[in-house]
Amino acid sequence: MRFRSRPIYHQEFPLAPEDNADATPTEIGRRVFLQRGGAGVAVAFAASSAGGAWAAGPSKADANQVRLPLIQDANTEQKEDTPDANLPPDERIGYAIVGLGRLSLNQILPALAQCKYSKVTALVSGDRTKALRIAHQYGVPEVDIYDYQNFERLADNPRAQVVYIVLPNGMHKGFTVRAARIGKHVLREKPMANNAADCQAMVDAMRRANRKLMIAYRSQYEPMDRMISKMVKEGKLGSLREFIAGNSQNVGDPTQWRLKKSLAGGGAMPDIGLYCLNAARFLSGEEPQEVLATVYQPTGDPRFVEVEQSVQFILRFPSGLTATCISSYASHESRFFRLQGAQGWVEMDPAFGYNGLRMRYGMLVDGKNATTEVQIDPQNQFAREIDHMSVCARDDIVPHTPGEEGLQDQRIVDAIYKSARTGRAVKLAQITAPTRGPDPLEETF
Ligand code: NAD
Repeated sequence: MRFRSRPIYHQEFPLAPEDNADATPTEIGRRVFLQRGGAGVAVAFAASSAGGAWAAGPSKADANQVRLPLIQDANTEQKEDTPDANLPPDERIGYAIVGLGRLSLNQILPALAQCKYSKVTALVSGDRTKALRIAHQYGVPEVDIYDYQNFERLADNPRAQVVYIVLPNGMHKGFTVRAARIGKHVLREKPMANNAADCQAMVDAMRRANRKLMIAYRSQYEPMDRMISKMVKEGKLGSLREFIAGNSQNVGDPTQWRLKKSLAGGGAMPDIGLYCLNAARFLSGEEPQEVLATVYQPTGDPRFVEVEQSVQFILRFPSGLTATCISSYASHESRFFRLQGAQGWVEMDPAFGYNGLRMRYGMLVDGKNATTEVQIDPQNQFAREIDHMSVCARDDIVPHTPGEEGLQDQRIVDAIYKSARTGRAVKLAQITAPTRGPDPLEETF
């Protein structure tokens, strides 16, 4: 499969005078649109089947043209007349959605309706009335509604090949092991579990069952994140130096499961801090060797009786890269990261969200600082990740974000809490990057 995306345009932002003292007015604040294949613009563009390339420079015809570093998603190479690859419903991989909470209702079920290779075929819920209503809405027959007790009856339902677990974190392990026993592939929400031992148990159970296990790290299927990962791999930023990230929001209801240790595993860290941690790893392509962390759990706030309000952690990577991350459950919504290299930086702000993401990068261009905004038509991250899982299940491919990816994050989360407890840096066992399946933007199927 090739994921298609539409044309990208890059917008230069006016830079603060101190950032760009040499620039002339004609060289800043100008917008460059790219059409497919570069047609219609005076910017030389070279793309390769491996995923696009950087501009060689401006056309001589445009004297005012600034030489811009351009990136194009590989898939913009596709022709308009490429046949639609949507599979007919009876050939799609079927999903049993376990847990009908906010994420399932507001994101996952609507995303399944946008998928090309996937469809919802069963629902598992503790609330039969709600399940009947949702089943009616999405065309799931009543006979394909299950509850948490009779979940194993899914074994007799060949229409549901994948179980998508969207329950509180503390319930992920139990349902993954149960799904393995009845021979289903598993797509699982993040975080994988509450500790590394549980993650390992799940990886082992799925391996024994010879079924696929994928963690729903949707950002890894999001086009801007993919583009940044590609920039890093191609060395566009030079040697990586610093990664800075934050993911914060205010939580309200003190009775919700996210604030109960047994169900959530922790507070801000496993829920939203995890995005910073995972991004530091997958964008850099490196694994940390040491972590230093603090957590803050105020007294007197009913929300933080069992779990931390906020976490701050620094990861050290063998190359010298450091990642400095913060996450809070008591700050106004704020989601961002910036990756700095010797020759450039790239940032997303907002980052990590379902939509409305923005990406910019900065580097020297012809000896001058240039800042470029990249815009890509938004794509549904959930639909992309679900379709990726479907292909992996169908074609026996290791998912791009397999169970080992969640296990590695959890090992680091465990070390973050240990560091916060002991007040010391914690060394991480030397781990090579988990075996990841194909880059979701470079697959062909
Ligand atoms: P939610 O509270 O809205 O839904 C949880 C569901 O679990 C509900 O249907 C609830 O009835 C059911 N449930 C069963 N037993 C329960 C129990 N003992 N306590 C509480 N609920 C119980 O939660 P959500 O926001 O849908 O989150 C579900 C999972 O999805 C979590 O693992 C969360 O981390 C993850 N999540 C991921 C993203 C993402 O962007 N990938 C976003 C939000 C949530």
